[in-house]
Amino acid sequence: MFKFIDWKINPQKTAVLIYTWPHGMEQHLLSEWLFHRFRRPHYFNTNKDDPEPPNLICRLTQSQSVHARNTAMEYATTMLPDFYEWILFSDNDILPSVDTDEMFRLDTDIKACRVARDGPHSWPRPNSFHDALWCIRIEDLRKIEPPWFSHGSSNENGTQQIGCDCSTFSERALAVGLTIGHAGHAGHREGSSISNG
Ligand SMILES: [Zn+2]
Repeated sequence: MFKFIDWKINPQKTAVLIYTWPHGMEQHLLSEWLFHRFRRPHYFNTNKDDPEPPNLICRLTQSQSVHARNTAMEYATTMLPDFYEWILFSDNDILPSVDTDEMFRLDTDIKACRVARDGPHSWPRPNSFHDALWCIRIEDLRKIEPPWFSHGSSNENGTQQIGCDCSTFSERALAVGLTIGHAGHAGHREGSSISNG
């Protein structure tokens, strides 16, 4: 039996949303990792009459990253059954490792896993953030006004994106007083070329 020692979230009351572009599936290792930690994985079960709703896995397949992320945030803040207190967002290409669970022992409001990006500079600050694998209390997510994500910053002439989209979310989160931390590691099959967190 898996033990949730020192976890700061309740896995029994955590909904899981997976971004599944482009092919609508997730890594087998990710499915297995979720299965052993959270409630029976189900796809898109939103039955409000269910006294013990199973975990939700929402397959979001929009191609534009920012729009898909915002759709997920809208869903998480307005559509989830009240039963859920926490939400875990995950890309479908996450490869969990031995210490991925460390993210759940963080005391910060936003608990992110250090998902591999292109280099060692993606997590430079204690409150750096990328949205590949992270969780938050749903009532805290509701404190942030939409749109939650926008396109990251560009260079002076607007010819190149220099900040990733995640930073637009983390700036809004910090502005409403939420705290951000990251711990543990996970692999990421399809890395982004922009990773300034
Ligand atoms: Zn990012």
